[in-house]
Amino acid sequence: MIGQEFEFRVGIGTDIHRIVEGRPLILGGIHIPYPSGLLGHSDGDVAIHAVIDAMIGAAGLGDIGSHFPDTEEQWRDADSRELLAVIRDQLKDKGWQVVNVDVIIHAEQPKLGPYKGQMKRAISAILQMDFAAVNVKAKTNEGLGEIGTGLAMSSTATVLLQRKMKRSL
Ligand code: MG
Repeated sequence: MIGQEFEFRVGIGTDIHRIVEGRPLILGGIHIPYPSGLLGHSDGDVAIHAVIDAMIGAAGLGDIGSHFPDTEEQWRDADSRELLAVIRDQLKDKGWQVVNVDVIIHAEQPKLGPYKGQMKRAISAILQMDFAAVNVKAKTNEGLGEIGTGLAMSSTATVLLQRKMKRSL
C-alpha cells in the first residue's frame, strides 16, 4: 500500500459538578467572574474533565477517575489544565493526535457566549492543536432539573484521535 494510513478512534466524556458559593468558577480552562464556582477535589472544571474523559476513552485507557483518583492528595485543587496536559502526553507517547474536540457546557448561569473563544484558545493551546478544531458550545437546561435550577453544571464532550498505522510489509 502506498501512502500513509491512519487509524481513528472516537471517545465520549461527561462530567457534572455542584455549584457552591465561595469557589472561583473555572470552566474550559479559564476563570470566569461569577460569585459561585464548582465544587470538586480538583478545580472542578467540568468541561476540561469531560474532554479528558473523551480522550482517555478514545485511546481505550479507562476513565479519568482511574488516572486521577479523588482520594489522592496529589490531585487536591489540581489545575485541570495540568491534568489535560498529562493525558495529552500519555496519548502522544502512544502515537495519538487529537483531530478535533467538541464540547458542550450545560449551565443555566452565567451566560457563557462571551467566553467560548477564550475556552477554545485555552483548550487548543494545551492540546497543541488548531484553534478551529476545538468547538465549545454552551446551553441552558431550560430551567429543568439540577442544571436548570442552578445546583450544578455539567459537560459533554467528544474527541476524535488519529495515529499513523504501523506499516506491514
Ligand atoms: Mg470532574
